[in-house]
Amino acid sequence: MHQEVIAAISTAPGEGGIAIVRLSGGKSLEVVKNCFQRRKGRFSPRPWRVYLGDIVDSDGRRIDECLLTFFRAPNSYTGEDVVELGIHGGAFVAGRVLERLLECGAVLAAPGEFTKRAFLQGRLDLSQAEAVIDVIRANSDVALQNANLHLRGALTAEIREAERALLRVLALIEAQIDFPDMDTPKVTLSEAGAELEAAHAVLSKLLASARRGRVVKDGYRVVIVGRPNVGKSSLFNYLAGQERAIVTDIAGTTRDILEVSLNINGLLVNLLDTAGLRGDGDFIENLGMARTEQAMLEADLLLVLLDGSTNLTNEDEALLAKTTTKQRLLVVTKADLPLQVVLPPAESAILVSTVTGGGVVELRETLAREAGRTIGGEHNLLLTNIRHTESVRRSREATRAAIEAARTGWELELVAIDVRQALDYLGEVGGRTISQSLTDEIFTQFCIGK
Ligand code: GDP
Repeated sequence: MHQEVIAAISTAPGEGGIAIVRLSGGKSLEVVKNCFQRRKGRFSPRPWRVYLGDIVDSDGRRIDECLLTFFRAPNSYTGEDVVELGIHGGAFVAGRVLERLLECGAVLAAPGEFTKRAFLQGRLDLSQAEAVIDVIRANSDVALQNANLHLRGALTAEIREAERALLRVLALIEAQIDFPDMDTPKVTLSEAGAELEAAHAVLSKLLASARRGRVVKDGYRVVIVGRPNVGKSSLFNYLAGQERAIVTDIAGTTRDILEVSLNINGLLVNLLDTAGLRGDGDFIENLGMARTEQAMLEADLLLVLLDGSTNLTNEDEALLAKTTTKQRLLVVTKADLPLQVVLPPAESAILVSTVTGGGVVELRETLAREAGRTIGGEHNLLLTNIRHTESVRRSREATRAAIEAARTGWELELVAIDVRQALDYLGEVGGRTISQSLTDEIFTQFCIGK
């Protein structure tokens, strides 16, 4: 356990009902005893009890009243002795309490240091520690559920399953190398092959969830496209429920991409409004169009807008042709005006009007359905973190190489090299095989007090 006691305000900055100032380290109680006065009786706190008292300055004057909770190691957030002080939620008062704790011997915690200590104490592995941020930043039900799965160690368990299979392969190979007469290499190789396939299957299943994981964490990307004046900004604003995009009837006013995050039926949907696609724009418009092309490439769904009050133009036809192979939804706009547009055969569209609001509910529901379909019905564990995805991908590549090597009947030593490599990559997920500096960097992404 660290003897150095760290302290920080763990609640968000600003005004609130209460603030929590937290301390962790072997001597947390000693630090607090210098500035905490219990209202009644002597202060010799028992763990997991709450004590009412005051935090006082060096002259014994009250800074704030306080509810103190003591969590004894190892059953605390960090795995060390932890003291939490519940005080009034003002920025100044919380700052004064923190200062007083520093006077009494604590040092200011670095960002993420509480969670880092939990990791160093073995309370959490690195992927679980990262899930703490995911819980804090979750912005939809599905993201929150998934972050909780990670926090409870569901990813750790899957990784362990693959690791165990890989370790069994190493054991088989090592036994063969140590006692070459006991078995024939053929038997070893086929047994190893089966274990390797099992590990490969676990990793493949995880990787298959990465796209859905990206959608859960970063949102389902819906990109609005259409020629100028078709009503993109109006629809964007309507869905966003706020005046974000500039709406005018002069063609080409939306020159960059606007993005808004919507929570539709508990799913995070990122809606992007793009510059109109057209051939004769000026330079800035052309830049906007390059971004539009990029946004279209990265979209999970394109909302292709067609103006209901006019016939299809050449630009509309070109856009329809360009997007046939994409995941797209046709939307006919200005449905409050007499309907002029004739859709290409076998195409259907949702009719919307941002003047009357007609069709918008149906559009939102369709978006939620499409996003839900991408994420999948049963909410199993999803890989949401690029760092994890990359390590799992590399591990699977090394496992595949080991399978090939075993199949071709290579030297067992060579198969073992690939297997060790696969294990090293897997170890990165939980932090076992990554450098101290990389671990430190991961924790600096946390906020102070976490
Ligand atoms: P953008 O260039 O595609 O972003 O199109 P805008 O959203 O700027 O809209 C172009 C013009 O169409 C504006 O004058 C809007 O007021 C008008 N407009 C947009 N949506 C509707 C609608 O649902 N009904 C009617 N009647 N006019 C609309």
